[in-house]
Amino acid sequence: MSTETTAIVLGAGVVGLSTALYLRRAGRDVTVIDPLPPGGGASFGNAGMISADTASPIAIPGMLRQVPGWLRDRKGPLVVSPSYFPAALPWLLRWIREGRMDRVLAISDALRALHKDSFACWQDLVGPRLFGDLVRRSGQIQVWDGDGESRGAAVERLIRERHGIEAQVLGADDLQQMLPGIARSVRRALLVPGNGYTVSPARLVGALAERLREEGGTIVAERAMTLVPREGGGFMVWTNVANRTADHVVVAGGAWSKALLDPLGVRVPLETERGYHAMLPSPSIEPRYTISYKSRGFGVTPMEGGLRAAGTVEFAGLDAPPDETRAKLLAEHARALFPGLTHGEPRLWMGFRPSFPDTLPVLGPVPSRPGLHLAFGHGHYGMTAGPPSGRLVAALVARRPAPIDPAPYSVSRFGA
Ligand SMILES: Cc1cc2nc3c(=O)[nH]c(=O)nc-3n(C[C@H](O)[C@H](O)[C@H](O)COP(=O)(O)OP(=O)(O)OC[C@H]3O[C@@H](n4cnc5c(N)ncnc54)[C@H](O)[C@@H]3O)c2cc1C
Repeated sequence: MSTETTAIVLGAGVVGLSTALYLRRAGRDVTVIDPLPPGGGASFGNAGMISADTASPIAIPGMLRQVPGWLRDRKGPLVVSPSYFPAALPWLLRWIREGRMDRVLAISDALRALHKDSFACWQDLVGPRLFGDLVRRSGQIQVWDGDGESRGAAVERLIRERHGIEAQVLGADDLQQMLPGIARSVRRALLVPGNGYTVSPARLVGALAERLREEGGTIVAERAMTLVPREGGGFMVWTNVANRTADHVVVAGGAWSKALLDPLGVRVPLETERGYHAMLPSPSIEPRYTISYKSRGFGVTPMEGGLRAAGTVEFAGLDAPPDETRAKLLAEHARALFPGLTHGEPRLWMGFRPSFPDTLPVLGPVPSRPGLHLAFGHGHYGMTAGPPSGRLVAALVARRPAPIDPAPYSVSRFGA
């Protein structure tokens, strides 16, 4: 393998590690920098859904009408901390604007292009043995409260039809048979056979780090403090303990990426949608599918070590401490979904989704800063889009043919 140029990747989450591994396979000399162990950020505690056959933006017309009701409900799927509201407002207004139908369809095209190869990229990266051990392609069951189809569900159906995505409506009897123990009040459900999940996000992302090391990449436990452009090209990454230089730097710092870019004049509307999980050990019910409870904004996934109830959205920034009640609420919701469910003491977790108002990540070079590349903003879909994003960004860094059209993910869409 020839090492033509050097690359530094900032961030050892699913996105940074996928990018680094693809870069390594393209012959680059790669170093990943992160103060946390690999997969110690949002990539650790997510719901583990690999939603290759999901192409819906987070803001869709029917859903937006529900937002005011959600905001009044402290147990609802969305909360905004009152003290953080002024900071979040510009992002929220932009998010609402992105919910127009023409934008929703354009965004869904870009999500489809990125998500559809998710399983193939995961398998390519971690290899067939670990893929078989950690990934289940068994389909996802989506459930809703109530009987009639909501406007949001109708838009999601339209998006599936647009992309030829298969889905099967489940009757109450099918549901009881496929998910024994589910509440009889849940009568509206859909099976999306092309989706799946991992039984351990931590082990799956950890496998990316192992593969990277095996294939000659380096991971160092340091924090990047600032990026200094070098005369003649490339950057010096000034970390807490070292000065490291490279021809190319990829910022894949998840929700923390903005802080590294602001000093360079690269402005992006990145927010964090904080989310929670309650890990329920020794569950009395072990479903065979990952379940997305759409009306309540969370999912339930059977994992190693228990049943994980994960999701909901909280706007409170990067510094506020976790809210225990939000995490405990997820255990409560899981017991409402499966009324007979018993389990051991829940383990609670909070993580920071890196989110843009249009649901799409930024992927690719910064035109005004040669050698600087971006790979963050995957919001609710990083476990799905992380590996295909790494494949795209590595191709752009290595100046190889892009596997998909990179235009929809360009930072230029924000005028940066
Ligand atoms: C509750 C919840 C449920 C979710 N469920 C799903 C799901 O089911 N399916 C799905 O596809 N997605 C899901 N997601 C989203 C997914 O987890 C994220 O999109 C994804 O993990 C983001 O990956 P990342 O690599 O960009 O960020 P992270 O995993 O957060 O990694 C970023 C890394 O950058 C490092 N970093 C930050 N600053 C610096 C610096 N200055 N120097 C060096 N390193 C730095 C951090 O330490 C961190 O390790 C969920 C998220 C949450 C919170």
